[in-house]
Amino acid sequence: MAKIGINIATGSLQQSEMIVGIDLGTTNSLVAIIHPESKHAIALKEHDSASLVPSVIHFGETGMVTVGAEAKEYLVSEPERTIFSAKRLMGKSYKDVQDHADYFTYKVHDDDTDSLVKVQVGNTFYSPVELSSYILKELKQRAEHILKTPVTKAVITVPAYFNDAQRQATRDAGKLAGLDVLRIVNEPTAASLAYGIGLHANEEKTIAVYDLGGGTFDISVLHIHDGVFEVLSTNGDTYLGGDDFDRVILNYWLAQAGIQPDEIKQNKQLMQQLRLASEEAKKALSTSQNFATDLNGDRLELSIEKFNALIQPLVERTLAACHQALKDAGMAADAIDEVVMVGGSTRIPLVKKAVSELFGRTVHDELNPDEVVALGAAIQADILAGNNRDILLLDITPLSLGIETMGGLMDVLIPRNAKIPTRASRQYTTQKDGQSGMRISVFQGERDLVKDNRKLAEFNLTGIPGMPAGLAKVEVGFLINADGILQVSAKELRSGVSQQIEVQPQYGLTDDEVEKMLLDSITHAKDDIATRALVEARTEGEQLLSTTENFITKNTSLLSAAELRETAAAMQNLQMALTMDAKDLIQEKIEALNEISRPYAERLMDQAISQTLKGQTL
Ligand code: AMP
Repeated sequence: MAKIGINIATGSLQQSEMIVGIDLGTTNSLVAIIHPESKHAIALKEHDSASLVPSVIHFGETGMVTVGAEAKEYLVSEPERTIFSAKRLMGKSYKDVQDHADYFTYKVHDDDTDSLVKVQVGNTFYSPVELSSYILKELKQRAEHILKTPVTKAVITVPAYFNDAQRQATRDAGKLAGLDVLRIVNEPTAASLAYGIGLHANEEKTIAVYDLGGGTFDISVLHIHDGVFEVLSTNGDTYLGGDDFDRVILNYWLAQAGIQPDEIKQNKQLMQQLRLASEEAKKALSTSQNFATDLNGDRLELSIEKFNALIQPLVERTLAACHQALKDAGMAADAIDEVVMVGGSTRIPLVKKAVSELFGRTVHDELNPDEVVALGAAIQADILAGNNRDILLLDITPLSLGIETMGGLMDVLIPRNAKIPTRASRQYTTQKDGQSGMRISVFQGERDLVKDNRKLAEFNLTGIPGMPAGLAKVEVGFLINADGILQVSAKELRSGVSQQIEVQPQYGLTDDEVEKMLLDSITHAKDDIATRALVEARTEGEQLLSTTENFITKNTSLLSAAELRETAAAMQNLQMALTMDAKDLIQEKIEALNEISRPYAERLMDQAISQTLKGQTL
């Protein structure tokens, strides 16, 4: 197998630069790094504070913006100026979120269109990208303060189900915060990396990542092999989490006191106190059997048994989603090799127990479930910094990859920005009778003609057994694994003849080069379309000439002398047109020749039918 070095990815990184891992969460966010001495992933925190930064932004009347725990204080007193869960709005239109409009206590601007949603605070509109950038800016500043060094490069995690728009929005938020986002990584992938799963070559495993946070629940089934993290299925509930556990406790206490929730709904202060007490009870019951506190002179109590009974239906819902995810992945629960627990709510003993029972194994809960994703992002960042050369996970292809087809056209198999790992294949055929070989030339770029793109590799598929033009079926397959290695294969399906080539990444194509290639493709878009149309017309013309010629040689007896003359003239006209750069003329002559030759084909068919009827074989 030949190996040719090419540039699939962009830019190389300097060893010494600190790249941070960021978990940009719905409820909380945090930054992690690889400790330069211990080489272990650690979450960043100031001496006396927590690593978690609540994903909450408060816009003060005076223009003052605060982020984190301080902003959270305003949730009750200034709900319309305090933004939480901005992540839920990323890459969404108003129509996408209108069903949950009640959930947001701030103003989500309803412009009744499909355009991206905005949040209104006073007279100012903020996009979710801007909102997330405030959180990222805060995280960046904290990290710089702790590390005493500028932080400009980051890996940011997103849910596995995020689509391209949401991923792009996250990248943009990073850019706006002054961060160069080197990679967007799936949260479950990061969580497994934090546990060292998938870090070794030749490792093959199927894992489940159960992520129960404050407001969302996700279950992902991943297949990991040779550093490739393939998401087999995802499921969950974007409105189910620890907050719901708090709510069932609160409602229980109200019911105990004989109060209808609606009666005190207006008393925001009391509701907030109750909510905080419920969360306190929930957290306490993760390590003890009973909880009791006083609230404004009233005693609030909860036993572990009661708590478990209250949350049971919610836990059941997560289990149902796990079953569905397994089903979608085509896996049985006992085929899962490892189960990773993520999110603060997985500290609840009943949750752990239920999940271990479902999968029939002990779950991974050794790391802090709030930090797991950020820790994994830091490990990914370290890999990108070149400190762990064994594996190299790529996320997207910066430029399209394809092969040369007739007339020098670029036929794209894997488009630009495709997620890695990825695969694609397409079938091609031979142009000539008895053609025994086919040249496969691999190119990278956005232009329509391969001559304007970059050639990466070339090889010949040989040994195709003799058959008429158009009969051979050559399947060309592209596979890019997580290392960014492109493997190109070609196989003639009728005979099974095959050949493949491996094209390795090399970090050399700079961002500027990629940008130039993209710019060129835009500048030349019009010319390219015209050229492509001309080339396609020419190819069609040449093919028609060759099939007509073939037909006449084989079936001269079917045609009269006048017909032969007429056909020869039309062929000559087409031949002439092909020598000129005139697409319309070529098409006109193709049409003319087609008009003449179409009845011949019908005649041939009629003859075949009558011969068959006479009992003769063809
Ligand atoms: P996350 O979104 O992953 O930060 O998860 C936050 C959620 O975890 C909140 O609902 C917290 O109340 C919950 N949580 C944090 N610590 C505990 C604990 N010890 N026991 C139960 N739930 C917890």
